[in-house]
Amino acid sequence: MDYLPLFHNLKGRNILVIGGGEIALRKVRLVQEASAIITIVAKDFCPDLLEMNARDKEHGCNGLNLITASYEHQHMLDLPNIVMVIAATNDRDLNRLVSEHAQNANILSNVVDDPKFSTVIFPSIVDRSPIQIAISSGGDAPVLVRLLRTRFEALLPAGMSKLGSLAGSFRERVKAKFSNGADRKAFWEEVFYGPIAEQAYANNLDEAERLLAHKLESTDEFKTGEVYLVGGGPGDPDLLTFKALRLMQQADIVLYDRLVSPEVLNLVRRDATRIYVGKTAGDHPVTQDNINQKLVDYALEGNRVVRLKGGDPFIFGRGGEEIETLAEHGIPFQVVPGITAASGCASYAGIPLTHRDHAQSVRFIAGHLRSGKMDLNWPELVQPNQTLVFYMGLNGMETICEQLKQHGLDAQTPAALIEKGTTDRQQVFIGDLNSLPEIVRSAGAKAPTLIIVGHVVSLHDKLAWFNVTETTQ
Ligand code: SAH
Repeated sequence: MDYLPLFHNLKGRNILVIGGGEIALRKVRLVQEASAIITIVAKDFCPDLLEMNARDKEHGCNGLNLITASYEHQHMLDLPNIVMVIAATNDRDLNRLVSEHAQNANILSNVVDDPKFSTVIFPSIVDRSPIQIAISSGGDAPVLVRLLRTRFEALLPAGMSKLGSLAGSFRERVKAKFSNGADRKAFWEEVFYGPIAEQAYANNLDEAERLLAHKLESTDEFKTGEVYLVGGGPGDPDLLTFKALRLMQQADIVLYDRLVSPEVLNLVRRDATRIYVGKTAGDHPVTQDNINQKLVDYALEGNRVVRLKGGDPFIFGRGGEEIETLAEHGIPFQVVPGITAASGCASYAGIPLTHRDHAQSVRFIAGHLRSGKMDLNWPELVQPNQTLVFYMGLNGMETICEQLKQHGLDAQTPAALIEKGTTDRQQVFIGDLNSLPEIVRSAGAKAPTLIIVGHVVSLHDKLAWFNVTETTQ
């Protein structure tokens, strides 16, 4: 190991920075966040640095101590109890000289972009204080470090800070209650991997604190579970939200339906119990009441239950009904939005749903047949400059196209049907109100499919980018 990562407490300690440019500014910002007292020696200071200093003083914070001069050894000797020197000028030799002076005095020294002459180097930081991750390649692969940092940034919920602080405020009490280290560990694991953490991430801090206090005081083993109604998006697993993925990976039980793609389902925690509650048109093996009841029962047994749905749970997803039942039983729940089929399919087919020249509004419509009929407000749908998106419209496609024409939409209005949008099986069929039904039937398209009607469809020719070789026209 070339470097030992340590976390420094710099509160109220003196730091000397040599150089007043952009590079110095970046380091100054960092050490300032750690509440160090900063003196900067430079021939001149960049405007951003001066501005930051002025702003800090205005807000009553300690400003920077700026010395306009060429660096001399005396500057270091004059400052009492320096803990670190940062050499950040664009003069390599000067930087090295500064570092030599610091090292001779046993002061930590950092030379920007010159690790060989530094005794300490700055890591890349993912900051969710009090939780922090420091990443370093020892100067060998800074771009790789940056990529890794992006990954960690994505992995750590923004609310991790709050959870960390909450844990800090309970630390002594938990220690007092569990003298045995293993019990303490088990307690914290349950806190960090369940409803308490989720409440903190959702910014419900009072509730998180209440649950944590309750957990600490209660003597019984009784746990209430929680239900997460999660939107799994239209198919491509890359379209999941961070929150959806996190909850899927800590679920005990997952109830999913037909629209959840195998690729998305694959991301569920390996040892979670998976229960299929899908419905296919005309065949309802699991009734909605039955699903609602299952969610209640599993949660009351203390499970973390994920109800995984295709697209967005609140768009033609009956999500509202499911959480109504949970609310009636006082079971905590959260709803995680997903990318709805209209957004997903439109993007992946290169069909913008709105466009300055073609459509100023868009409608999401349930296009299924009920007893062979479709009871929709057709005159409203044929208004100019709007895009129509029909969900569940494959069986009723002829009716949709026919009714739109009968109510005044031009027969040449472009129309598209997207099959299994956003997956690698995606197919896009393009036609108009006259031709689309025949194109789709002869190709034998299968559900799930989405129909888009409107002039925006004509943009597909130019804007298609995904699976383009598969496109049938
Ligand atoms: N809650 C879902 C919609 C459920 S209704 C959402 O927000 O997307 C089911 C309908 O969604 C299907 O009949 C189909 O019209 C549409 N759909 C869902 N996923 C789709 C996909 N990958 N490709 C095309 N249509 C899809």
